[in-house]
Amino acid sequence: MKRALIAIVVTFLVVLCSCAKNEYKRADFFAMNTYASFLVDTENENILSEAKAEVQRIEKLLSATYDGSDIQNLSSVSEETFSLLEKAHNVAVTTDGCFDYTLGALVKLWNVNGESPKVPSEDEIERTLETCGYENLSLSEGIIETANSKLQIDLGAVAKGYAGGRICAMLKDKGVENACISLGGNISVIGSSRNNLEKGVHGWNVGITDPYDTSHIIGFVNVSEKTVSVSGSYERFFEENGKKYHHIFDRTTGYPAETDLLCVAVISDDGTLADALSTALFVMGYDKAKNFYEEKAFDFEAVFCKKDGSVYVTDGIFHDFVPEENANVVFPQYE
Ligand code: AMP
Ligand code: MG
Repeated sequence: MKRALIAIVVTFLVVLCSCAKNEYKRADFFAMNTYASFLVDTENENILSEAKAEVQRIEKLLSATYDGSDIQNLSSVSEETFSLLEKAHNVAVTTDGCFDYTLGALVKLWNVNGESPKVPSEDEIERTLETCGYENLSLSEGIIETANSKLQIDLGAVAKGYAGGRICAMLKDKGVENACISLGGNISVIGSSRNNLEKGVHGWNVGITDPYDTSHIIGFVNVSEKTVSVSGSYERFFEENGKKYHHIFDRTTGYPAETDLLCVAVISDDGTLADALSTALFVMGYDKAKNFYEEKAFDFEAVFCKKDGSVYVTDGIFHDFVPEENANVVFPQYE
């Protein structure tokens, strides 16, 4: 099977499509602290510009570091931010804090993406953890109250999925039928890729990068009207004394989550949920994540890449997942 990988500068997920002459309009740029790549089936350049403007608007609204963002001024947040926080809170409660949007102080303490990160002292971690925790925050009728004045919100685990979903909805409202909005490890798609349309196949083929060899994929999922979000430990990390420290934290320890997973991809109709859950399931580790899936608190599918090299696929995505030849994929058991 021979496929051309468009060189999108994204290492968790890739969109598989041919470089056909009538390719959709494309924009590559940097936004939300990551590489963004938009492919939109339109002749109208303005629509592409509006999609770019929308991601920039959302970034300004939700950034923990942008002066004037809602997240920096919790006393007067927009309705939009408030409803996103309510959604994030619901995921935090349901995942028992494996996803927790109030870890801002801990994220800043570790500063994994900063210039010279180092492992903080036990004491610093302990003191910082006291300022974290979704239980210390209440959301009611548009008002946010915090039990701890030092609590800091960080929507880094959910904002890109939210933005992808919003932009796809906006494009649909403008009559766009086919589009792929890629923001770091999050890809939201509507309709079909040009390549698939030409073959009479519906949807987009979203490749999941092999965490052991990022120039390869372990396989792809064929999806439409969905977001695929990946969280993993192999992209953003630093090393100290031979040990790797990645950017997804376990709030029960204050350290990067110790998990048997290298990455997890979550597929959902809802971009916000896909993004939040990929972070949560990564923190849970495979066994807990599998139970969580089976409890069906949320509607989603997932692909898990374990450290032992095996790949697990949930029942509902089994028929739409195409593994690469050498991937060690364990499919669900059917009676
Ligand atoms: P993602 O790549 O979507 O898994 O999001 C990771 C980002 O979310 C990190 O860079 C932090 O900004 C933040 N974060 C880290 N750990 C957590 C967590 N357990 N729950 C929620 N957000 C987190
Ligand atoms: Mg996430």
